[in-house]
Amino acid sequence: MKVTNILKTKKRSLSFEVFPPKTGEAFASVSAAVDGIAALSPDFISVTYGAGGGTSEYSAAIAEHVLRDLKVTPVAHLSCISSDRADVEAKLTRLKEAGVENVLALRGDIPADFAGNLDYTYASELVAEIKERGCFCIGGACYPEGHPESRTLFKDIENLKRKVDAGCDFLTSQMFFDNAAFYSFMHKVREAGITIPVIAGVMPVTNGRQIKRMMALSGCTLPARFRRMIDAFGDDPVAMTGAGIAYATEQIIDLYANGIPAVHVYSMNKPAVAAAIRRNLEGIV
Ligand code: FAD
Repeated sequence: MKVTNILKTKKRSLSFEVFPPKTGEAFASVSAAVDGIAALSPDFISVTYGAGGGTSEYSAAIAEHVLRDLKVTPVAHLSCISSDRADVEAKLTRLKEAGVENVLALRGDIPADFAGNLDYTYASELVAEIKERGCFCIGGACYPEGHPESRTLFKDIENLKRKVDAGCDFLTSQMFFDNAAFYSFMHKVREAGITIPVIAGVMPVTNGRQIKRMMALSGCTLPARFRRMIDAFGDDPVAMTGAGIAYATEQIIDLYANGIPAVHVYSMNKPAVAAAIRRNLEGIV
């Protein structure tokens, strides 16, 4: 099913994200984690695409497994900065033949050894190319606090509008820990004339050390309440897991309560964490 149709039919939606294995040996354990997440009946599962395209085979294979064996709608991520047109064409053909209907079209992070790419500079070019095929429901990434490379949030939203105009059907947001940042972003996005659905991305942080890396990658700010939680529980894995799940649950309930109908959980191949959030939302979604 296309994500846009899911969003049309559901009052509230909840989806989860998984990442593919880096090696063939890890395929079985990742696949087992994905099975556990699929058992929670999410509205869809999105499958990330390894930076630099290194795990692209496994990414497609996991998306196919989600659809064929687990009967859950997959969203296959696809990044272009380390690919050429022929490579992208081959990947889209594989996804289409497998029946995968949703693609999250990304530029990808610029690799350290980047020597330039003659075919792609921005995700909008990939979006336009996928749009030409006519058969996929196309997602794009967005950043409530601005993409780290952008000078200002307004500039980033201007660029986001170009990407949407190239053919996005929905957007999924980067994680954020302060819902006020997301609400303010949504206001700016709508003012900019972007009318497609925006799915709010929420990350349950269950590991205090995770946070430093994530901060560097995502550029998102940490509210004082969140920082105090990390200070208090970051060194105690069991307490941090409980606190991180509770914080994410509270964020999600607040989003739904404020009229944001679609939430995507960065569940990071942790079925127990996804299940705890699902349980906490019983009766809500
Ligand atoms: P773009 O939309 O191309 O934007 C990149 C930067 O260029 C932004 O600063 C933007 O403002 C600017 N820009 C865009 N168009 C123009 C223009 N015409 N002129 C000037 N500037 C412009 N990475 C992966 O490797 N694999 C994944 O599976 C993955 N999944 C993700 C899922 C989500 C929901 C999100 C939010 C991010 C994900 N990423 C993933 C990370 C993403 O690849 C990086 O954040 C990357 O740096 C930007 O990708 P993009 O598609 O947002 O790029």
